[in-house]
Amino acid sequence: MDDIEGVLKGQNIAYFSMEIGLSNEIPTYAGGLGILAGDTIRSAADLKVPLVAVTLVCNKGYFKQVLEDSGSQHEQKEEWVPAHFMTLLPPEVSVNIRGKDVKVRAWLYNCKSLTGGCVPILFLDTNVEGNSEEDRGITDYLYGGDQRYRLKQEIVLGIGGVRMLEALNFKIRKYHMNEGHSSLLALELLKRNGLKVTDVKESCIFTTHTPVEAGHDKFDYGLVEELITDRKDLEVLRKFGGEDRLNMSLLALNLSNYINGVTKRHSLISQELFPGYKIQSITNGVHSYTWTSPYFRELYDRYLPGWANEPELLVRVGGIPDDEIWAAHRSAKRALIDEVNRETGVGMDYETLTIGFARRMTEYKRPTLIFSDLERLRKVNNMGRMQLVFAGQAHPRDEAGKGLIREIFRYIEELKGEMKIVFLENYDMEMAAKLVSGVDLWLNTPQRPYEASGTSGMKAAHNGVVNFSVLDGWWIEGWIEGVTGWAIGPEPDEEFSDEECMACEINDLYNKLYYIIVPMYYDRKDEWFKLINNSIGMIAYYFNSHRMMRRYVTNAYL
Ligand SMILES: *Cc1c(COP(=O)(O)O)cnc(C)c1O
Repeated sequence: MDDIEGVLKGQNIAYFSMEIGLSNEIPTYAGGLGILAGDTIRSAADLKVPLVAVTLVCNKGYFKQVLEDSGSQHEQKEEWVPAHFMTLLPPEVSVNIRGKDVKVRAWLYNCKSLTGGCVPILFLDTNVEGNSEEDRGITDYLYGGDQRYRLKQEIVLGIGGVRMLEALNFKIRKYHMNEGHSSLLALELLKRNGLKVTDVKESCIFTTHTPVEAGHDKFDYGLVEELITDRKDLEVLRKFGGEDRLNMSLLALNLSNYINGVTKRHSLISQELFPGYKIQSITNGVHSYTWTSPYFRELYDRYLPGWANEPELLVRVGGIPDDEIWAAHRSAKRALIDEVNRETGVGMDYETLTIGFARRMTEYKRPTLIFSDLERLRKVNNMGRMQLVFAGQAHPRDEAGKGLIREIFRYIEELKGEMKIVFLENYDMEMAAKLVSGVDLWLNTPQRPYEASGTSGMKAAHNGVVNFSVLDGWWIEGWIEGVTGWAIGPEPDEEFSDEECMACEINDLYNKLYYIIVPMYYDRKDEWFKLINNSIGMIAYYFNSHRMMRRYVTNAYL
């Protein structure tokens, strides 16, 4: 308890997220949303923002990816032991599911910063004595199970979270919903406020992350009525969460005064998706220290002391000699290539232009776009001028995403002997850190406008890795052609049909590689150094979660 009383003091902003990416050892994240939550928390701790975070313990994890030789993905349980990292807190609260009380407890994890700041994180857990076997499993898996399982989890997260914060004596001023999964917290707050909507709205902040209507969590009222049996609650949900189905984003929109998208572009799209609501924008960032390789950390420490807690200092990267930057990059590249060769035996080398593509494997991310025309790819490659590293997991129920992994495996086979291409198994935070620092070029080819933000390219920039990407999400704000990297496809305001857009993207992809990127990499290193410098000084200095956190504080929390 000493530890607990020392830490749980005065936090008055509650940050709710279904997933949080803290480290490989605590696998309670699936992808970008969770990593962003982790970076948000790390920056809040560094900046001593009085934040407390709430999530589910998911101690059977998301899953561990195992790939067959054909590229077929299998999922293994990724169980971990909360007690190895966290302290079980004494209070027990309960939530009502199907007319029955389900007990909830919380594990405390302290995210500590070297600055002396600390963000406590509450990992809610229903594996409590007295709960039925089924209820004990509610907090087992991240994004596992069906709609019923998901809604139960959201009841525990939103309602259980508010009750746990109260049981721990927090006096919360602001509740920040990172995506709509936690919006039942607003229902709970309404009850506490004697149904005064203005008071609830004053204390709620909603960040949306999904630029398509279908991506927002929705539940049939048949299911909702089965799990939430209180008649008053149901009336409130129908009033604020939609007439025909319970839309968690709508519930959050109706009960928050501050609503934001995660890039300027995404905010505009969300504004069209939800007319009548004022949708602001706070562009995402990544935690600079976490995503900078040890080699660059050492360099920045020497030339730009204080950079980790003030990433704006990276704007002064021009004062670091090119050869030292190149040496840091070479070290990171060597570490990656050594690992790739150890894992796959493919025999990559340190000299060849190395391209990275790692992210969730799902249709809109289009990981196979670079294989659209193998003849053109062969021409660009010219017997070994490029090597490619892929990684990424498909959600267990995303059959199309799994198919994409198999497709990449077939291309790897087909190009064997001409081009070294690997697909690394089980993409996670540690591998991400190695990849975004160890390649030369970071490729991103999402289908517009589905990439709300994207963050891996920001991590790459922190390590002087150059971005080559479709103009969607954050890249619209980071891109200056030929200065900070290169665009693939039309500019944001160009009106193209889907076919024209795709043709333009494929043309750019091959043409820019062939005429600009490959020759510059091999023959005009001084120009390449400029792009490295600009990635750090014009991208990383801005696209970091310290800047993002300060925006949340001044625009939303205060
Ligand atoms: C950064 C990161 C992501 C998100 O990357 P995007 O570019 O936004 O797709 C996903 N998974 C892991 C492990 C990451 O580190």
